[in-house]
This record gives sequence, C-alpha cells and structure tokens, in this order.
Amino acid sequence: MPFEVTILGCSAAIPTSSRNPSAQLVNLLGRFFLIDCGEGTQVQLRRNNFKIQKINYICISHLHGDHYLGLFGLLSTMSLLNRKKELIIFAPKGLSKILDLHFKLSYSVLSYKLKIVELVSGEKTKIFEDDALELYSFPLKHRIPCWGFKLIEKKQPRKMLKNIINKYDIPFDLINSIKLGQDFTANNGEVIPNEKLTTSSHIPRSYAYCSDTKYFEKLPHYIKNVDILYHESTFHSLLSNRAVSTFHSTSQDAANVALKGNVKTLLLGHFSSRYKDLDLLKHDAEKIFKNVEIAMEGKTWKIKKYFLDEINY
Ligand SMILES: [Zn+2]
Ligand SMILES: [Zn+2]
Repeated sequence: MPFEVTILGCSAAIPTSSRNPSAQLVNLLGRFFLIDCGEGTQVQLRRNNFKIQKINYICISHLHGDHYLGLFGLLSTMSLLNRKKELIIFAPKGLSKILDLHFKLSYSVLSYKLKIVELVSGEKTKIFEDDALELYSFPLKHRIPCWGFKLIEKKQPRKMLKNIINKYDIPFDLINSIKLGQDFTANNGEVIPNEKLTTSSHIPRSYAYCSDTKYFEKLPHYIKNVDILYHESTFHSLLSNRAVSTFHSTSQDAANVALKGNVKTLLLGHFSSRYKDLDLLKHDAEKIFKNVEIAMEGKTWKIKKYFLDEINY
C-alpha cells in the first residue's frame, strides 16, 4: 500500500514561471492529505491528473498567503462539482473567520460540510488518527503562528508465513491472535512459537513537513527518525542573516535538522525566487547531511518499506 508525497508547489512567497507556492499531496494508504494550499493548487492537482474530490483532509501550516490562498478556489470547485463528503481542514485560528467572510460576501453556500479543526499551540500534538495512521502537528518559529506536520503509519500486524496455516492446520479463528504475536498449540500438544508462524511487518513509515521556520533546537526532536523530511530552504547559507531576520531557514539549517533528527532523506523546498539553479542549495546542505534531494513540482516520492532485519538503512 502506498505512502507517497507529490510536490505541487515549492516556491517561497513569490511564485516564478516554473515554481508555484507551497502545496503537496500525501497519499497514505489511500487517504489523501493536502498539505498547504498556495495559490494555483487546484490547477496543479489537475496537471497531475488528480481528482480533487478524493482529498480527505487539508493541513494549513500558517496564514501567510503563499500557504493558503489557493483554498478559496479549491473549496469552491469542490462545491461546484457537488461534493457531498465532509472535508476536514486542520488550520491555525483565524482561518474560519477568513473563510466565513469570503463565503458570506460572495453569497456562497458549499454543497458539503466543512469542518475546521484549530491547531493548538504548545508541544507536538496528535490531531488526528484512524485505524491506519496518526497525524501530529508541532510548533515552528516563524513571524506568525506556524505549525509543521508529521504523518506516521500505525504498526501493522505480523504476516503469516506461506503455507503455514495448512502445515499446522491452524483454525481460522486463531489467525488474528497469531498475527498479533501469540504462539500456537498444535493438536499433539506441541507449542509452535510465533516466530515460526509469522514474519514481522515493515517498520511504520513516516513523513514530516517543516513549513516556514527559523532553526531552533527543539525542531529535530519533533521530526525524529522520519523517512522523508520536507524542510523549507528559502536561502543559501550565504544569506543566513537574512534567514534569521525573516524567520526562515537556510539549506544548512535544514540539513542540521535532518542530521540531528536522524532522518533518512531530506527534501528541500520553499525556495526563494532569486535561485534559478537549485543545485546550489543542494550542495550547500550536503556539506552537513548526505542524503539531500530537491523538491520538484509534479514529482512523487514513494516512501520505501524497511524491515527490522534490514540493518543498512
Ligand atoms: Zn512561505
Ligand atoms: Zn510564512
């Protein structure tokens, strides 16, 4: 089952002719999360042949325009296409007010229920879960209240080994408990240990999104051990003073978070429009962390499954 991230926009505040403001689509086991919704997001979704009604949840990191101005168009299109399914948006305080005013002044009534869940300040918080995944928000340090998000799969049950059910004549009603780790007692009284019946499922995959933020000590702790960390990289380290004064990060700040957080892959994004050659930012980050990739619009990153017995990851 997939866990993948498609980048729809990776520009900082000012879009360029080839880069849109922040937005990305995460498919976690068939649940679709839109993370940030900069201007033009619905067009980007169409370019990627994605049916917008499939979006289940939207996460908005903060109320700077480059992270949410695409919402008005997207929500309207969903209504014009007669959406009926409820849509849940996780967003900072204030978004409800903005949307209410917009809908009121444009005399719009949506065809579906919109539920807005306000993000809470403080520490890392679980804001949603279902039977397969958990969604967390965590505070960032930006000019206005801003949050990052982390999505993680729940641990899957163990898998029965091939032909094992026939071999030991295991009754159907015991299979679930064996998948959860129980041993099995055969008809002759022999106890078959669980390791001989099952194999472990993969290590739960995870993804974190660090929206606009300056570097701070606690950040690596929030994203610890994720498979892919998307981190803003507005500036090259040569402009570190500018990064600090605007509450943004340099490529090396992002690399430091990745290194201290022990992530597998660092995906840089939210690039200032001044950078045409993004390899400059990649090389800057690689001085600190080796597995760096550059976000590209329309490109999908699939999160690989690892098993406990694989040590070289
Ligand atoms: Zn931004
Ligand atoms: Zn911002």
